[in-house]
Amino acid sequence: MSARILVVDDILPNVKLLEAKLMAEYYEVITAQSGAEALEKVASENPDIILLDVMMPEMDGFEVCKRIKDDVNTAHLPVVMVTALTDTEDKVRGLEAGADDFLSKPINDVALMARVRSLVRLKMATDEWRARENTANQLGVMEEASHAMAEPVENARVLLIENKDYEVDKFKQVLDVDKDIIIDVPNGMDAMKLIREGEQDFDVVVVSLNLEGEDGLRLSSHLKSNERMRNVPIVMVAEEGDMERIARGLEIGAHDYLLRPIDRNELLARVRTQVRRKRFQERLRSSYEISLSMALTDSLTGLYNRRYLDVHLAKMIETNVENQKKLCVLLADIDKFKSVNDTYGHNVGDEVLKVFAQRLKDNIRSFDLVARQGGEEFVAILPDVTDDIAYRVSERLRASIADEPIPCSVEGGALPITSSFGGVLIEGPVTVQEALERADQGLYAAKEGGRNQVVFEGVGKLDQDKYRTEASEEIE
Ligand code: GH3
Ligand code: MG
Ligand code: MG
Repeated sequence: MSARILVVDDILPNVKLLEAKLMAEYYEVITAQSGAEALEKVASENPDIILLDVMMPEMDGFEVCKRIKDDVNTAHLPVVMVTALTDTEDKVRGLEAGADDFLSKPINDVALMARVRSLVRLKMATDEWRARENTANQLGVMEEASHAMAEPVENARVLLIENKDYEVDKFKQVLDVDKDIIIDVPNGMDAMKLIREGEQDFDVVVVSLNLEGEDGLRLSSHLKSNERMRNVPIVMVAEEGDMERIARGLEIGAHDYLLRPIDRNELLARVRTQVRRKRFQERLRSSYEISLSMALTDSLTGLYNRRYLDVHLAKMIETNVENQKKLCVLLADIDKFKSVNDTYGHNVGDEVLKVFAQRLKDNIRSFDLVARQGGEEFVAILPDVTDDIAYRVSERLRASIADEPIPCSVEGGALPITSSFGGVLIEGPVTVQEALERADQGLYAAKEGGRNQVVFEGVGKLDQDKYRTEASEEIE
């Protein structure tokens, strides 16, 4: 996976060294030698990852990082702080400024490549969601821009897989600051059992790579391939000498690691980073799903809307032609609906529309589709029908409205309502507009003919007795 990496350091030989290492691995490298130049390139060069020196004159790395993370346009870019300092206070300061990771100088090559690879992967995943969110926005539903640093860190559910009691105690003490809930298990088998039982979801998993008689890496890879855990970040805990295995772990998909002896501040900061990231991605995903459903369904009735219908009907017509089947397009319109509004008010009108929609839905076959075309007009699409089935389904829909008054908030609790239908059976390739227009001619005739009836193209008004089907009877 290639990526464009911005290397920032005020000392030229440092820049050159990192550039050479990264280019040897076929990454594309851009460079900056001051904080100001870095911010400029972040804006203009669209990097995927930023390797950022901490100690720079004028604007230091913390400040640069903070500015990148405070800007909604760049907050999603992973930042790795590169520091000569081993002081954990600095690490914590960096993580709190929003840095995603640290590398210490002199830079360990394994650690460098492992971090870069894992961050590139993460960036790609986030980009994918951002792109989808964009599309959803373009479909007409605006969502406010998202910002990872704004996510809350408290009350996270942490699955801790560790068999050393003193480490478990330390985790509990430290993470109590954020009121995190620690569920600890001593081995992978217990962890998988907990996950399988599925009582609870986790925000982050911490796995010891030094479990007794058990390979923490294998366990991590097992977690990554589990449906319920795939999106839960993994933090590995390991010894200083485990660097190679840590690198493997990051390749497998773990997000971060802690070295023993665990520094309390670093532990807190790294868990917070993962919790924020997880919650951010979850929010992107759910806001995408909500936007999408808002863009394609009608909020009053929950039916598909016109936009969805247009695309879907075009596809159905195409499939229908390919399979040499008949497709029925049915238009429904409530009779004298204006007078319902005029007499009982718009709210009662809305109630009627909801029940009307529900009755249509309840009386079609499972693979048919009903959409709200607009106002009090609905469209049903019935694929793969015979003439007889089309007539019987249509008649059943009409009767489902006319035979039973519609419950709503009026005196007596219900209103008698009828509706008219126009239908057309389609065999060849036609446009969506043509199909709907032909059905509309039937609907017009049904209104002219006295309402509460179904008129099919080429047939006229359907005989209501002939095509009657009991509600309990299946039409297939
Ligand atoms: P016809 O039998 O000829 O269809 O008569 P109609 O009164 O039903 O037809 P018309 O097209 O004149 O009136 C449709 C009414 O539907 C007018 C409009 O106010 C109402 N309407 C459209 N959308 C909504 C809605 O979302 N809620 C409510 N309450 N009314 C709606
Ligand atoms: Mg009407
Ligand atoms: Mg109308």
